[in-house]
Amino acid sequence: MISVEEAIALVTQHAQAKSESELVNVEQSLGKTLAANLFAPISLPSFRQSSMDGYAIHLHDSNSYTLTGEVKAGDASNPRLQSGEAIRIFTGAKVPDSANAVVIQERVKKSADKIILEIQPKIGDNIRQIGEQIAEGSTCLPKGHRINPSTIGLLQSLGLAEVQVKKSLRAAVVVTGNELVEVGQSLEEGQIYESNSAVIASALAAKGIQDISQIKIKDNLEDTISQLGDALERNDLLLISGGISVGDYDFVGKALQELKVDEIFYKVLQKPGKPLFFGKRGNTYVFALPGNPASTLTCFYIYVNLLIDLISENSDPGLLRVKLPLAADYPNPFGRALFLKAKIQNSQVHILDHQASSTMISFAQANALAYIPTDQKENPAGALIETILLPYGS
Ligand code: AMP
Ligand code: MG
Repeated sequence: MISVEEAIALVTQHAQAKSESELVNVEQSLGKTLAANLFAPISLPSFRQSSMDGYAIHLHDSNSYTLTGEVKAGDASNPRLQSGEAIRIFTGAKVPDSANAVVIQERVKKSADKIILEIQPKIGDNIRQIGEQIAEGSTCLPKGHRINPSTIGLLQSLGLAEVQVKKSLRAAVVVTGNELVEVGQSLEEGQIYESNSAVIASALAAKGIQDISQIKIKDNLEDTISQLGDALERNDLLLISGGISVGDYDFVGKALQELKVDEIFYKVLQKPGKPLFFGKRGNTYVFALPGNPASTLTCFYIYVNLLIDLISENSDPGLLRVKLPLAADYPNPFGRALFLKAKIQNSQVHILDHQASSTMISFAQANALAYIPTDQKENPAGALIETILLPYGS
């Protein structure tokens, strides 16, 4: 059995960056990785903008100005101000070329067609200059950047409808288990609702992988071989849930052997998720994730997430890790490394109740996984613990 660190190193070593890229709609690009440096086609802002509601002035020696008009957001007008003249202006409006400062309305006394300034303005006050945020032609985001909601906002502000991203992986999510029933059907004795496929699919979608085939297999060797065989032909990434442990009805390991998937590792000294398998056939990566729901998701976040980032040459592969103090003692007598569902609160890590690999209730409430290595046995309150931030932490 290998350690968590060895398993992470093997994933890293076997991940081959994908060179292909594709043009996608900006609105469908969330979670994907930029395939090239992004150059700004226009400056932002592209004209001088008022950053406040107030008065655009052409500075002169006195603090009294004559009001000559108004420009609101969206107006194309460009009134010519003489020295000592002002116009009413609003946030986002084009500042006339002849104005050299904007004074906020709260610092002005207004009477009829005059304003008296209560402050001494400086040239450029409250004016966003052309290209202040981004100059036309400059690199605004580097290759390898992961697209987040603010990136989408930036791309839209630049007038871009499409963006060049790393080509999405074709992924198949395969769930195994005779006991599994789809939501919407009634449960017979001994059956449970199937949940891992939706968990994995939504975790993949958050990484920009939406084109996912879903495959359901009963616990039987022939079906497992034929369905996995098909899926191996058609996908870049196979995520199999369940059937990889040592039970009499766990057929995934045997099927992968039959199908000549090369084992890179099987079994990691960790809790949850010990019987994790990682392998490759040709250019297709295969993870067999232990079926207990918390094991499946933990293995996804630690290993699958990293692999996807490395394949897409993301510049910050893997989830962010920080060291934070433990809120209460948490000894580790298990002889395995622990990934514990945890909540960061008041800058401390609180290990949640319900750590069993079969339970999702703590995962749903967690915003982090606390990582405790195998040999870190005593973990007193206050000890600094490696804390892995979850992407959808509450
Ligand atoms: P396995 O890894 O197949 O031995 O499954 C371990 C445990 O996880 C069993 O209690 C299964 O019923 C449960 N399990 C396996 N697959 C799923 C799934 N897709 N959704 C929910 N629970 C599952
Ligand atoms: Mg099973």
